[in-house]
Amino acid sequence: MKSVLLDFIFPRLCHLCELKLAIHEKYVCSRCLAELPRTHFHTIRMNGMEQRFAGIFPFTQATGHFFYTRSSPLATLVHDFKYHGFPNLARYLGKIIARELYTTSFFADTDIILPIPMHYWTRAKRGYNQAHLLALGIADITEMPVSDALRARRSHKTQTALSLEKRRNNLNGIFRISDIDSLNGRGILLVDDVCTTGTTLTEAAETIWREASPRALTLLTLGVTV
Ligand SMILES: [Zn+2]
Repeated sequence: MKSVLLDFIFPRLCHLCELKLAIHEKYVCSRCLAELPRTHFHTIRMNGMEQRFAGIFPFTQATGHFFYTRSSPLATLVHDFKYHGFPNLARYLGKIIARELYTTSFFADTDIILPIPMHYWTRAKRGYNQAHLLALGIADITEMPVSDALRARRSHKTQTALSLEKRRNNLNGIFRISDIDSLNGRGILLVDDVCTTGTTLTEAAETIWREASPRALTLLTLGVTV
């Protein structure tokens, strides 16, 4: 009753079409959510994302759930949860993608979720790490624990303007593992918001394989560029 009244006084609007949300909807209306383009990469062997990592480090599977371009509706959502103070939107989207993947075998080789970390200073400025919130949303559905064993030694500036080589140099040695034992023998699900060139995920995965001995590594992002 309270939420019905609140909805009447302060109508909540869809982040994409800006129409009024129904009482059971959150952040994005059902129609806009259904229309977000899915990659279905989890059904494709050596999909466009896996090709970025093949031969560089071992992994079971890698998928970005939605197509991402700078002008795509997903970019609006990512922008809203990164810069416009909607951290719970990230957790909500984590739940959405986990729910859609849960009925497949995608999580078969995973038992611990490891979000790409932010340096504590960047996190303090923003108040949250969106990859961690995505991980929490995935955990809400899969009931796997979320680990903070992967840490960032320094902040990495936004990389979009850098060449691929400069991106790699910029990230070199940025990650470390704080609790190696907690990852040994585990099936790790490495989570980030968007995969563009894949350099951040590569640096994280190489750090994991260099410093720990997991059983398997699977990669999942909300969005992926093609
Ligand atoms: Zn909408």
